Amino acid sequence: MRSVVRHILDPEIHLRERLFQLLSTIALAEYLVVTVYNLVIGSSVFQVMTMLAGMFLFVGTVAFTFRSGHMRVGTVISGLLYFLIYPLTFFSSGGMYGGAPVVFTFALVYVFLVTEKWERAVVLAACILGSGACYLFAYLHPEKLTRHTVPEEHIESFLAILLVVLLLCMLFTFVTEVYKTENRIVQRQKKEIEDLHQVQKRFFSSMSHEIRTPVNAIIGLNEMTLREDVSDEVRENARNIEAASRTLLHTINEILDMSRLETGGMEIRKVDYRTVSMLSDIVNMIWMRAQEKGLEFIIRVDPALPVVLRGDEVRIRQVLLNVISNAVKYTHKGSVSLSLSGMTDENGAFCVIYDVTDTGIGIREENIPYLFDAFQRMDEEHTHAIEGTGLGLSIVKQLLDLMEGSVTVTSEYGKGSSFRISIPQEIVDGTPVGEVDLKRSDPRTTARYESAISVSDVKILAVDDTTMNLMVVKKLLRDTGITVDTASSGMEALQKTKETCYDLILMDHQMPGMDGVECMHRIKDQENGLCRESKMVCLTANVGQDMETYYRQEGFDSYLIKPIRGITLENEIARLLPDKHR
Ligand code: ADP
Repeated sequence: MRSVVRHILDPEIHLRERLFQLLSTIALAEYLVVTVYNLVIGSSVFQVMTMLAGMFLFVGTVAFTFRSGHMRVGTVISGLLYFLIYPLTFFSSGGMYGGAPVVFTFALVYVFLVTEKWERAVVLAACILGSGACYLFAYLHPEKLTRHTVPEEHIESFLAILLVVLLLCMLFTFVTEVYKTENRIVQRQKKEIEDLHQVQKRFFSSMSHEIRTPVNAIIGLNEMTLREDVSDEVRENARNIEAASRTLLHTINEILDMSRLETGGMEIRKVDYRTVSMLSDIVNMIWMRAQEKGLEFIIRVDPALPVVLRGDEVRIRQVLLNVISNAVKYTHKGSVSLSLSGMTDENGAFCVIYDVTDTGIGIREENIPYLFDAFQRMDEEHTHAIEGTGLGLSIVKQLLDLMEGSVTVTSEYGKGSSFRISIPQEIVDGTPVGEVDLKRSDPRTTARYESAISVSDVKILAVDDTTMNLMVVKKLLRDTGITVDTASSGMEALQKTKETCYDLILMDHQMPGMDGVECMHRIKDQENGLCRESKMVCLTANVGQDMETYYRQEGFDSYLIKPIRGITLENEIARLLPDKHR
């Protein structure tokens, strides 16, 4: 009995199979009660034999169903058994005056719950027609009914009602148990998914951290090669190393963004920004790439666009960079153009429309619906040599959804594509931007490196547990005249800050023992410390939307991400130490 209950409540087993087991058990109990009752009241041998035969046939059918796994066949046969046995019990036990009507109710409920699809309709119809025929015959030939005595009929009717009540109670208990179990499973699965998301998030951020650390050394030391007066071939190699490293970083960022979007960890942060300055960064990056491929890069900005807008500048830039980079990537000759205009949408919101058009390889019409799916790369025969992960446009679409924006694509295969992006934004200053002339600068045209800052008498302490990173910082600042001391642990840093007054401290975050945040706090509170007022810069491979806020809240004056460029480092030092400028 226990194993039957366990089977009925086992959530691993299909619901219909469990229901079949439950109802069959009740039906068997019903057969048993009726048989015993017939024996007690001394019914005819025929009647008792009929019940026993029905019971054995029923048990046999149920056993066959579970052994063979043929649920559909088993449920139909067990349902039809009612159809066969019902008329016999109907006529031998007082017809509608005994328990037959209630047994009939049970039969219909049984068939309805255990069968499905067309079998349900057929068996139900058979049962209804069969019992209808019994009633009709009993009406026309009431003398054929074997009436029991009045007390017996009362007892039968009462027993039949008890059986149906038992059925309803058990069904209700079963449904409640199923609901509770399913609910428990859903809660457990929800928790498992949340845990998995956390693990995934931790994995991707630690992977990003671990990859950024060596890439910092590659890019930093490579930059030193580019600064030297080296042969054209060495310069070419160094540029290729730089490009490959940036591609690697781009891929890591895409994977990280994808993971954040999937786990709901990406938030939209609206800020006031100048329409034109947001564009100039993009233009500089794209213009260089377009020029390398001999493509014309055309920019048109509607002079009527407002000068200051409010939106998530970082994400808008990311969306545009992705789409324009693709346009350059998938165009071999001709041009890539970016046009900006404003429009008020049907809800009355102001939208900036960004049209990116290219004369590239184009996209087949049948591929357009799959363009924004993750890891989808189209037209592999023409694109396999072009690097990419197939994540870019999926991220674009998800970011636009978060910003309540939209993107549409039109393309002619072999001729070019056009992406229209629309993003609702608030107008902060409606003054028109007027005619825009975006200045383009190519940092690589400067063959020889020149330090961007000129400082005197500046002392910096770089703290990092990776020796290579300390070497990179030292080398990147070599030509500035700044004195750079290094410490490879928090404890060593605390020792040095007692001995020397540094103007600025570059602090790594993740270090064994004492981490960078703790070390910064201890330097600021250090008794007899000489660096309590020094500028603190967190130079870390920890990237993330909330990281900057976190580090600033902790007390850092600035947050720089590895890999770091020499020029970025110098500009930040100059910004933080304006008095030291010569
Ligand atoms: P990928 O990293 O492969 O560029 P994306 O998600 O950015 O990934 O783009 C998905 C696919 O869409 C690309 O592999 C390419 O086949 C196609 N595609 C995207 N933009 C263009 C374009 N401007 N011209 C032609 N094909 C494009």
